[in-house]
Amino acid sequence: MTAAESSEAVPAAPVPFLDMIRVNAEFREDLENALRAVFDHGRFVGGPEVELFETTFARYCGTDYAVGVGNGTDALELILAALGIGHGDEVLVPTNTFVATAEAVIAVGARPRFVDVLPDTLLIDPEAAAAAVTSRTVAIMVVHLFGQVADMDRLLPTAQRHGLAVIEDAAQAHGASFDGRRAGSIGTAAAFSFYPGKNLGAVGDGGAVVSPDPSLIHKVRRLADHGRAANERHRHEARGRNSRLDSLQAAVLLTKLRSLDAANERRCALVARYHARLPAAVRPVLQHPKSRSVHHLAVVQVDDRSAVIRRLDEARIGWGIHYPTPCHRQPAFANHAEGGFPVAERAANRILSLPMFPTMTSLEVDRVCAVLALNGGAVRC
Ligand SMILES: *Cc1c(COP(=O)(O)O)cnc(C)c1O
Repeated sequence: MTAAESSEAVPAAPVPFLDMIRVNAEFREDLENALRAVFDHGRFVGGPEVELFETTFARYCGTDYAVGVGNGTDALELILAALGIGHGDEVLVPTNTFVATAEAVIAVGARPRFVDVLPDTLLIDPEAAAAAVTSRTVAIMVVHLFGQVADMDRLLPTAQRHGLAVIEDAAQAHGASFDGRRAGSIGTAAAFSFYPGKNLGAVGDGGAVVSPDPSLIHKVRRLADHGRAANERHRHEARGRNSRLDSLQAAVLLTKLRSLDAANERRCALVARYHARLPAAVRPVLQHPKSRSVHHLAVVQVDDRSAVIRRLDEARIGWGIHYPTPCHRQPAFANHAEGGFPVAERAANRILSLPMFPTMTSLEVDRVCAVLALNGGAVRC
């Protein structure tokens, strides 16, 4: 039997885009023990795991303080609210991001001012950001999309010149760095999401605000807990809300944080393998030389996306698009769509996210690359 015949006889296994069961399987026993400990002490909200996670995660990010909150979107909104940003204020937001970044701005009553992205990294374009500053601009949302920290060398001077707060949306960038500084330690404050599929994922929703500024952290903590005074439970000093990281999620996150660097290293190795084997027509997004990505997503650009997707579907290979519609084109943000965003619009039709998760195997990468290398026509794998 020839190699071709044998591969026809035994269909190759599907490659999932992301397999949460496989991601968590290696922690199963540790996770179960960590969860059992919470059941044993019974403090499901505000248990000791939360505080321990906050201090451990702040240190991991290379900053001083962290507050666990309900999810990444709340983290963004709480930072804006704690900075006093609201009605009449404008916040710069890259149009190529998950909608949550812009949603948070609108939720506090401020106005997102969308900014185009760079064609090679698809991260916020520092020149376009500088050009979008008006007298009402008070902050810039720097989104470290796909796991790569944006070009802080060119963004920070603009923020400094105009006195803007720098809010890092680090929901996809746990452990990433720029010029040796970790995501979350560079700006005024940073928001993290622990949605299950993120590089550091809970088994449900979770998020955190990190910052070197103790007074900002105090305000976030108070807002997220009904505006409650730190030492007087029934005194409500601010109009707050409820957005907390619970003890079970904190226990899971503490367990998984121990292997986050190793998981990020595996993502880097898988991306290196992709880069070595992808056909020339499939072009990965580029990395800034100073930026160490943690490759939350493996994003490539192709000319003929629907044909490529058809091939992946036929071969049972998972894929995604992050994101098919730039924010300025979303109906929900139609009031904020002024300006042209040619780079983001072109990219939206060309981007494709390939399978990526830390327990993915090299063989799976090879299979994806082999299918992508097939030049149209009938796919046999
Ligand atoms: C996931 C994500 C968020 C929102 O986080 P949630 O925990 O889902 O609320 C915000 N911004 C970006 C870039 C994200 O990827």
